[in-house]
Amino acid sequence: MIKQELFGMTLQEMQDTLLPLGMKKFRAEQVFRWLYEKAANSFEEMTNLSKNDINILQENFTLITNEIEVLRDLKSNDGLTHKVLLGFPDGTSVETVCMHHDYGYSVCLSSQVGCSMGCTFCASGLHGLERNLTCGEILAQVYYFQRFLAMQEARVSRVVLMGSGEPMLNLDNVLKALDILHEEHGQCIGYRNMTISTCGVIPGIRKMTEMGRTINLAISLHAASDELRTSLMPINKTYNYLEVIKAADEYATENGRQVMYEYILLAGINDSIEDAKILANTMKHKNVVINLIPANPVPEKGFMRPSGNAVDRFFKALKEQKINVTVRKEMGKEIDAACGQLRASTLVGGE
Ligand code: SF4
Repeated sequence: MIKQELFGMTLQEMQDTLLPLGMKKFRAEQVFRWLYEKAANSFEEMTNLSKNDINILQENFTLITNEIEVLRDLKSNDGLTHKVLLGFPDGTSVETVCMHHDYGYSVCLSSQVGCSMGCTFCASGLHGLERNLTCGEILAQVYYFQRFLAMQEARVSRVVLMGSGEPMLNLDNVLKALDILHEEHGQCIGYRNMTISTCGVIPGIRKMTEMGRTINLAISLHAASDELRTSLMPINKTYNYLEVIKAADEYATENGRQVMYEYILLAGINDSIEDAKILANTMKHKNVVINLIPANPVPEKGFMRPSGNAVDRFFKALKEQKINVTVRKEMGKEIDAACGQLRASTLVGGE
């Protein structure tokens, strides 16, 4: 008999699945809490369940949290950033990162194995898209870290969808995972502490607007002119950046959230004063924040990191135009350099 995956089911789905197997309705609630509140990753841990109910669970279900394998494990020298390459039973893998900030622990999640968007500066898209992650696989990334944190009486308090994949192309599973994390008997994470980052898939932004949750929206902009953005991000041909900004404005108005624009600074490509002025004009009078990210060098692709002075110049040029701007705080730079490349090197190296 093929076992069904239990991790990733909502409470309603658990009730609908467990009741016909002879388990009581309140047992489904107990299982839900064991998995999502207490981060259990085996049925034996569910000590308030009867032996018979544990047998039913073992005979009929799997838990993906128990089946993922850690293929690579990197910690920054300061211990604040922890990155893992998690392998799934079908042989695919994704990167997940946990960061310890002053406000708590934040986990950066992947939503797809690989990515179809082909942004030129990104290693996650190098081998194209393999598949969408299930809701359970998205959640399992959070709970991989949550299990360790629970031992120190700490918890994951923020999640960001900024790992591999385009979350808007797997939005149903992403939102289902975020809803479970938001549950009182899940991790109880507020929507305001969740961020979905997109390269600009407008139908996804509109769907989020309609759903009305107060999830933060981040847009990977990286250029404020058509020609340049298209050369860096092919998606710009389908969803032009001005249309993307319009959709993001509507999201901000309807959902009451300030939109964050991410802008990777690539030396000699998009980091001139002229680029800053075009960007400032595009964002003028908007309630947005621009997050500047000095690029990690990828010499084989001709992408170099701008100097500190170039970053300062760009930052000041935006500030002078009264644009709300930040420079991304660097965390665990020595392992950050491998962003998206852990999986890529594993694929190439066949490790
Ligand atoms: S930057 Fe994001 S959308 Fe672009 S290829 Fe990488 S993972 Fe995909």
